[in-house]
Amino acid sequence: MADRPLTLMAVHAHPDDEATGTGGVLARCAAEGIRTVLVTCTDGACGDGPGGAKPGDPGHDPAAVAEMRRAELEASCEVLGISHLELLGYADSGMMGWPANTAPGSFWSTPVDEAAARLAELMRRHQPDVVVTYDENGFYGHPDHIQANRITMAALSLTGMAPKVYWTTAPRSMMQEFGKIMREFGAEWEEPEHPDQPDPAESGAMPEIGLPDEEITTWVDTTEFGGQKFDALAAHASQGENIFFLRMGKERFTQLMGVETFVRVHDTTGAPLPENDLFAGLR
Ligand SMILES: [Zn+2]
Repeated sequence: MADRPLTLMAVHAHPDDEATGTGGVLARCAAEGIRTVLVTCTDGACGDGPGGAKPGDPGHDPAAVAEMRRAELEASCEVLGISHLELLGYADSGMMGWPANTAPGSFWSTPVDEAAARLAELMRRHQPDVVVTYDENGFYGHPDHIQANRITMAALSLTGMAPKVYWTTAPRSMMQEFGKIMREFGAEWEEPEHPDQPDPAESGAMPEIGLPDEEITTWVDTTEFGGQKFDALAAHASQGENIFFLRMGKERFTQLMGVETFVRVHDTTGAPLPENDLFAGLR
């Protein structure tokens, strides 16, 4: 059809988000000869440091954390067969309410237009057929995830919409199962320095994230690529919140995380819904 390969662009907030949210579809696309472009907006410097040091701890050097996470991101891209990694390089804004939200250079404090113009430039260069990012709540309310949604939608209106645009989501029907497994494997897992938010492992249910199943438009079976998704996440093993996934082992992880779900928010192909392929109508 086209004289260039089909292209998927995934816009993510931090190093490791590409693995948890879209590791399966990225690996699947790579296996199918689809070009994959990963845009990572921040340096992840508010993540865990070597030895599990948390931001603000004496052993937490943000520059060193950023450097370590960049190496982890490159390893993850290798595992997932990402064609192009593009780094916007903004400073990680931390969780909502942290001082890092407004620190100079933080992604959250960067005007949407400014970051969107840079992303639009990447869209013009790579000409994605499918663009994936988070929903307007950044899936779970993290400022950098919300900002990733905002700049992606703004960049798309600057360049003209890609043929298909998606927001990642999770089916509510899975959330209870998820909470159960989290308690089973996550006894030592805790949300770092965020006491004002209920600990999902304690409350027994995830907060209201994700969508009712009937609102999910796109269910992609990526179980075949579960091993790659697991290995990509393992490349980010310095981050405490990933360890819970890794504890599950590949098989259980693939059972739980093997189907990736999306909401189609823009489409010019007319591919009928629900669909099981981000590129339905484009191949
Ligand atoms: Zn993130």
